[in-house]
Amino acid sequence: MIEIPIPVMDEIRTHGREAYPEECCGALLGRKGEPAHVVRVERIENSRGEERARRYEVSPQDYLRVERLALAENLSLLGFYHSHPDHPAAPSVYDRDHAFPFFHYLVCAVEGGVPAEVTAWTLLEETGEFEREAILEERT
Ligand SMILES: [Zn+2]
Repeated sequence: MIEIPIPVMDEIRTHGREAYPEECCGALLGRKGEPAHVVRVERIENSRGEERARRYEVSPQDYLRVERLALAENLSLLGFYHSHPDHPAAPSVYDRDHAFPFFHYLVCAVEGGVPAEVTAWTLLEETGEFEREAILEERT
């Protein structure tokens, strides 16, 4: 399970709407644990040169940047979110092949420019497959 304040969920949906029809992406900063707790998100530019409507990519520079940002704020890099324009909120094979164990991955479907379902996933190290996890939307 992952806890996410409602305003942070709104930010993810807003980013998905603004980036439409391309995919948006960003980092989840927060506190590890059971459940993990997202404190805030940091937008990342989709560094994918082509196919941005179907793919996202976090550059090594951005990865370093958000890791340092988390450290500086006494938080942990918990994972990443991205949007699926006109696609279901489930990770693709590409997403699975580019994911790391231990991180949390949020996928936000954006249908015709309107943000829809958001789902959360973790990669199981043993099987290399995503497992869905529950999102607890917190009122702040
Ligand atoms: Zn994806």
